[in-house]
Amino acid sequence: MARIVMKFGGTSVADIARIRNVARHVKREVDAGHEVAVVVSAMSGKTNELVGWVQDASKAEGSNLNIYDAREYDAVVASGEQVTSGLLALTLQAMGVNARSWQGWQIPIKTDGAHGAARIAEIDGSFLIKRFGEGQVAVVAGFQGIAPDNRLSTLGRGGSDTSAVAIAAAVKADRCDIYTDVDGVYTTDPRIEPKARRLSKISFEEMLEMASLGAKVLQVRSVELAMVHRVRTFVRSSFEDPDAPGMGDLLNPPGTLICDEEEIVEQQVVTGIAYAKDEAQISLRRVADRPGVSAGIFGPLAEANINVDMIVQNISEDGKFTDITFTVPSGDLDKALFVLGKVKETIGFDAVQSEPGMSKVSVIGIGMRSHAGVAATAFKALADRSINIRAITTSEIKISILIDGPYTELAVRTLHSVYGLDKQ
Ligand code: ASP
Ligand code: MG
Repeated sequence: MARIVMKFGGTSVADIARIRNVARHVKREVDAGHEVAVVVSAMSGKTNELVGWVQDASKAEGSNLNIYDAREYDAVVASGEQVTSGLLALTLQAMGVNARSWQGWQIPIKTDGAHGAARIAEIDGSFLIKRFGEGQVAVVAGFQGIAPDNRLSTLGRGGSDTSAVAIAAAVKADRCDIYTDVDGVYTTDPRIEPKARRLSKISFEEMLEMASLGAKVLQVRSVELAMVHRVRTFVRSSFEDPDAPGMGDLLNPPGTLICDEEEIVEQQVVTGIAYAKDEAQISLRRVADRPGVSAGIFGPLAEANINVDMIVQNISEDGKFTDITFTVPSGDLDKALFVLGKVKETIGFDAVQSEPGMSKVSVIGIGMRSHAGVAATAFKALADRSINIRAITTSEIKISILIDGPYTELAVRTLHSVYGLDKQ
């Protein structure tokens, strides 16, 4: 017997027929004798609709301002998961499975007070463990919790992945299965490179980079939590026949296992290629080269909640001036330029140059820690395709390259093949 947390995303619970299919996946594990807790998202599109209503309702007549009370936002958008948790419990009951739905506050899933983007502070696993003892399948509404002000909170978009991993950690589950509309984590986006392969395993560290650098399979926070608590997490498809052979395999169900790197025997140098479109590049020319300048630039940007990514500073030629280049999401460019305009006098720089429509393509793999030449291979391959590199940043396990947006697909395919990812 194992203890399994099963999470189903929005497309997997999009209508009653799909919820029934989900119930069959759950029943399979229950029939195999496992202790099961389920976490659900809202029906696909539902949360967007709710967010739209919140925005509409909070506009003063004739105004275009998008400001709303985050507590009421939470009260509204958390409702999508309430609906699906109840519907799945009903469907399971109709199949003869002992099931009951639970909202975040009932467990309770305690969060901090950052309404709209709350972080889970604490989950006492004993409530769910008691349900296991009663032979009950607890169906938990994902994405939501309860804040210190005793009000509903939500975890930020995509947050039900995080609910599932946090619950798996709290009940010390053997596995957390994230069921979604793809059948695993791929070496790159198969819509760009049809030769992309499904990975059977990927390390927590690599998955964290993949998720932060643009792969949209899992919420970044959920991967962080899985890594910290060492939760073995499977990404798998809910659309496969729940009773197909191997689906109930305890150790190796079909999908991608996110796990400790020790578990990965055949380590590749490069595991995957991720990309993020819609980056904007900002360069500050002739910035005074003295202590406090970077703090003076990036402090105000952070206060304005602008997510700065790649940062490159030149070594000053004359000891007086330097250039600083960095990227922000294209959507934040105007705001960033506004903030920079305000600090221009105090910092002292000549000019701001900016360009939206950039892409960041990243090569990821823990194998590069112990291999030389991985970066050079990427640069050469891009050069051979006449793709110009605008900026580069690296970490121990990734190389990120900023290029012009229209070359994104070509760069992804080029890098995917140069590291042999399209071959078995
Ligand atoms: N329903 C929420 C959203 O769309 C949470 C989730 O699906 O993970 O963001
Ligand atoms: Mg999701």
